[in-house]
Amino acid sequence: MSLILGIDLGTTHSLVGVVDSGFPILLADGEGQRLTPSAVHFSAAGQVQVGRAALRARAADPARTVTSVKRLLGRRESEGDWRPPYDLRALSVTPIEVSAAILQHLRDIAERALEQTITRAVITVPAYFNDAQRNATKKAGELAGLTVERIVSEPTAAALAYGLDKLSERSKIAVYDLGGGTFDVSILELREGLFQVLSTAGDTQLGGDDVDRLLAEWIWQRADFPTALDYQVLPTSIQVRLVEAAEQAKRRLSTDDTAEISLPFIWEQRSLQLVLSREDLEKLALPWVVRTRQHCLRALSDARLSVAELDQVVLVGGSTRMPLVRRQVAEIFGREPNISQNPDEAVALGAVIQAGILAGTLRNVLLLDVTPLSLGIETFGGLMNVIIPRNTTIPCKAGEMFTNAVSNQQEMLIRVLQGERELANDNWELGRISVPFPAGPKGSARVGVQFSIDANGIFHVLARDTTTQRDVILEIQNTAVDVADEKVERMISESIDHAFEDMNERIWTEARLKAEELLPAVDQALDQLGAELSSEEVQLIRTCAAQVKNLLHAPEHNVKALKAATQTLDEATQQLAVMLVDKAMEESLQRRGIL
Ligand code: AMP
Repeated sequence: MSLILGIDLGTTHSLVGVVDSGFPILLADGEGQRLTPSAVHFSAAGQVQVGRAALRARAADPARTVTSVKRLLGRRESEGDWRPPYDLRALSVTPIEVSAAILQHLRDIAERALEQTITRAVITVPAYFNDAQRNATKKAGELAGLTVERIVSEPTAAALAYGLDKLSERSKIAVYDLGGGTFDVSILELREGLFQVLSTAGDTQLGGDDVDRLLAEWIWQRADFPTALDYQVLPTSIQVRLVEAAEQAKRRLSTDDTAEISLPFIWEQRSLQLVLSREDLEKLALPWVVRTRQHCLRALSDARLSVAELDQVVLVGGSTRMPLVRRQVAEIFGREPNISQNPDEAVALGAVIQAGILAGTLRNVLLLDVTPLSLGIETFGGLMNVIIPRNTTIPCKAGEMFTNAVSNQQEMLIRVLQGERELANDNWELGRISVPFPAGPKGSARVGVQFSIDANGIFHVLARDTTTQRDVILEIQNTAVDVADEKVERMISESIDHAFEDMNERIWTEARLKAEELLPAVDQALDQLGAELSSEEVQLIRTCAAQVKNLLHAPEHNVKALKAATQTLDEATQQLAVMLVDKAMEESLQRRGIL
């Protein structure tokens, strides 16, 4: 079975992984790094470099280095409030092409690590991405030679990584995602194994980078060099060094109480050396983190929930490693957040899990999926009887009762079908089973057929003869049920193309079955009770029956005429039917010695 990559295509960083030997893993590049900066450098000579190589090239050639392109993906130029420090038009590339270069690089990392060609992927996008942005992401994947099997929203992927699909039905989850450049909060609800995004809120200009800049400025002020410039007008190269030092110190302060900053010869041969405490950092960062509060409250109110109604709060994004952020989250939501996963890898891990589920390489996880096509069985007359309609959320269960269509039948053959066509033979057969039952008159057997698809995507068919209580079971692997997208599309478009003729065929078959049931019953009744009717009445019934027979065997199917003739025959035999019932009643009473 071909592998499917899970990809977190992030604003600042991207990750790629795959399910290997049943475990979701994230893959490292040649330098042993799992995080790939989402940066692409287009050299004047036409060379394209991605990731750390692109960032290295940026120092010398900033105008030709594209970063944060995700902010531009699927948007018109006039949209959005973020203006990039580069001109894509001057570089003759589109945001889709830049994203494709990143995806191609991630694909290369995976192909090198796994030593095989990979052509399929699941890619995550923010929950608020609209159709155009999702389509642009899909197109970027295709441009990188990947079939995008699914676009998954980031909070959903994170919830999967945290294993929240194991929570009970209707559990509500807040996903607090504070990264380098953006903040998102989403409220999800688990419904029948599927995460529904109830609301999202956030700020596309709020992230850990803000803290780095604040801290860089603070460090500069502490230096207090006599001839120094104001931070805002410092040369870019010095600002960059200060920001890098600030970011490193910030990270260290997530685990340590103090961090030493050392910047040799930063200004006019002078060096800067100082010790920063976590307290200093927190004082500086508090107003920044408090800004996330209003978005959390807004998301809750949009989802019409109170904090008490939430079951879990999970953290995503590197900045949620800061103890100050964790305390703030606990304060906003009135509970400790779940910190069991690496916050900067949770989205990627969720994408990998989803990819593993789709590829069928990951077991024992809930299949967050729906039935791509209807499942049913063939009924009398060769028609499709749908038991689980398409797009039903998995896991699911449904059943129906069937009976024998002819007398003295001893078994029922159940053909399990998948597809959208009205006639059984136009759908795909997934398997067949035979259910034995005691011979009896027509309509005496009772066979219950139950379809269920469990959390692992295994499709079980259970057929039970209710007289003997004997079960026959058929198990169909999810690989058979989970059909490739293009086959699903073909089946659906064929069902639409043939909708009229299929429906006509169904209506004809139903009319034919009714007529075929009535004719022998009329013959039998005439044999038994014909003598008690007037010859005109018998003649009328025979004429009506002959008309039905003619229409049944006519080369052209005339449903309307057949229905009308059957109806006329039915009406002409009303008197006969009443006599039959009376006779049966009389016989029964006589048998029981009442008459
Ligand atoms: P992301 O966008 O999820 O990759 O998050 C990147 C942001 O997380 C950057 O602002 C990093 O500085 C920040 N970050 C990463 N690790 C840590 C850490 N240990 N403590 C504080 N911030 C961190």
